[in-house]
Amino acid sequence: MNISSLSQQLNISVKELRQRASEAGFNISPRARKIDNILANKIITSLQPQTVIKKEAAAAALAKKIKVGEVISVRDFAGILGLPATVVIKSLIDNGVMASLNEQIDFDTASIVGGEFGFEVEIEKSTTSNLGTVAEILAKEKEEDRVTRAPIAAVMGHVDHGKTKLLDTIRKANVMATESGAITQHIGAYQVEYKSKPITFLDTPGHESFAAMRARGANVTDIIVLVVAADDGVKPQTLEVINRAKLTKTPLIVAINKIDLPDANQELVKKQLADAGVLPEEWGGKTVFVPISAKQNIGVDKLLEMILLLAEVEDFKANPVGTTAGTVIESHLSKTQGPVASVIIQNGTLKISDFVAAGAAFGKVRNMIDEHGKSKKIATPSTPVRITGLSSLPEVGDILLTFSSVPEAQNKAKLAMLTQRAKRMAYKTGISADSENQQLNLLIKADTNGSLEAIEQELQKLENKDVVIKIISKGIGDINDTDILDAESGKATILGFHNKISPQAQALAKQKKVNVDIYQIIYELTEDVTSAILDLILPEVEQIIIGEAKILAVFATEKSSMIIGGVVKKGKIDLNKKFVVLRAGEEIGTGKISELQHNKIDAKEVIEGKEFGMRVSTKVKIAKSDILRVIEEKIKEKKLRSSAK
Ligand code: GDP
Repeated sequence: MNISSLSQQLNISVKELRQRASEAGFNISPRARKIDNILANKIITSLQPQTVIKKEAAAAALAKKIKVGEVISVRDFAGILGLPATVVIKSLIDNGVMASLNEQIDFDTASIVGGEFGFEVEIEKSTTSNLGTVAEILAKEKEEDRVTRAPIAAVMGHVDHGKTKLLDTIRKANVMATESGAITQHIGAYQVEYKSKPITFLDTPGHESFAAMRARGANVTDIIVLVVAADDGVKPQTLEVINRAKLTKTPLIVAINKIDLPDANQELVKKQLADAGVLPEEWGGKTVFVPISAKQNIGVDKLLEMILLLAEVEDFKANPVGTTAGTVIESHLSKTQGPVASVIIQNGTLKISDFVAAGAAFGKVRNMIDEHGKSKKIATPSTPVRITGLSSLPEVGDILLTFSSVPEAQNKAKLAMLTQRAKRMAYKTGISADSENQQLNLLIKADTNGSLEAIEQELQKLENKDVVIKIISKGIGDINDTDILDAESGKATILGFHNKISPQAQALAKQKKVNVDIYQIIYELTEDVTSAILDLILPEVEQIIIGEAKILAVFATEKSSMIIGGVVKKGKIDLNKKFVVLRAGEEIGTGKISELQHNKIDAKEVIEGKEFGMRVSTKVKIAKSDILRVIEEKIKEKKLRSSAK
């Protein structure tokens, strides 16, 4: 056996291996690169007794399969493995998870640790959680029970290309007849009717919520309306939307906006989009392009018609009397109503008083309103509603499901909460920074292209003047040895998302001192990156002038201090504050007030108009008639300074 592989197996350096082996009485020649396997086994047994336990367990298990739920307590897990809890806890710690006997670990963690002991860990879907995703629920509905539902459209595109204006124009011009005059409520989506057919529009601002939804595998958008300003053309975010549509296989309609402007150039936009792989129908492609002016309400009707046409072709369906499922698109805490969540119903019908769970929140639907602020008793597929009655705030992208009782809903929510918590305990060693170059080097690995794209998009937003974010490499899948070596040579931290790190890679990471953080929520990843950036930024000190004093007398001059007297002319002067010395308006030096007296009594401050005596530490020779400008230094709160021009 190679000494280097032995050292890797024992998770120590070759040097340490030689030293510890020799201390334990083994004789390895200083030049030897290889030792025989018997000796190697003896060394393993001697240096890491735990390895023996692992081996015995592994032999006994003979790759036995065990089943655990989405979460399991450390105690129960050790029981299933048939190992002392301390051994399991030690292995958890080795894997970067600090969990005590009664704490819950998630399935991923259990499968890694189980794997180390030679077990093949399989997930046991619990009865409350086997409802799955909305897509799975829909797939279970019988074809004959499904009926056509309103298409759900999202308006996306580059900033300032007119998304908000378009959503406003559509809403104003097409509110359902019965609702005219009603007060608009922002609930994250609204429904309009065109030629008696409904369309649901998501009007959640920005791309954040889409990123959040994608990160949790949720998807509510049937059709993307890509807005491109005719006077500005294809921009980075336009391309992002095109990529997203491709990745999620969501059909796209292009709205060329601002055609009322004199410098609008529709042909150029078409050409640019064709270059990006979105070919207009008139050029033999598949995508519908509609020229519009959101501002002057030109072509918007045609756009709605095209959305309906596309919806007819795609034929979006759901079972209104099937299993109720929806997705949370917004949530906030209301002072008067408690947790409030906007949900788009995707299957079944949500009713007042239904028992529901969404993510870690549960409860009974107390109140339901639509986008006009009107109370609703029921919500059918494709309808957005805002509900109250939940125990806590669900997250955007959480799936809302109904249950036959509150305790059942609570169980589901509890499971979701435990899973969330357990996942948050997942592997983390912190982000390391390259302070020499004011740089954060990152290697990003995510579960899917979609998540990777979402992470990159979020990281782009953190670009700033002070610290460079350098992505040295990115990829899909679990974190492996190659990633660790790449990160080592690139002085990078590995950021994982919805993935795992193999025990081998973990051992290597430890050995190479490579930091690895695995996340389940994008927001937490960006938060950590933000604080790593802020850590690199030197604090900025703000100087505030708090007062000015005129020197009337100099009493004593020592090597680096003086005793002087004067009168406060403006503001106040404080003990221990710094000052600038001005002579005939010119700055001649600085100093600090080390003792301060008013009327020969020690004072913390002396205000305007009053006389004082003080000892100052300074290198300049202060003279009668000099002015001391007293300064307070405040450390400014660190902020990311935008790098945008
Ligand atoms: P968003 O960032 O994509 O939501 O863009 P906004 O809807 O906020 O629009 C950005 C600016 O473009 C605003 O000043 C709008 O008034 C203007 N705008 C939007 N649509 C049109 C249009 O069709 N014609 C003209 N001339 N201006 C428009």
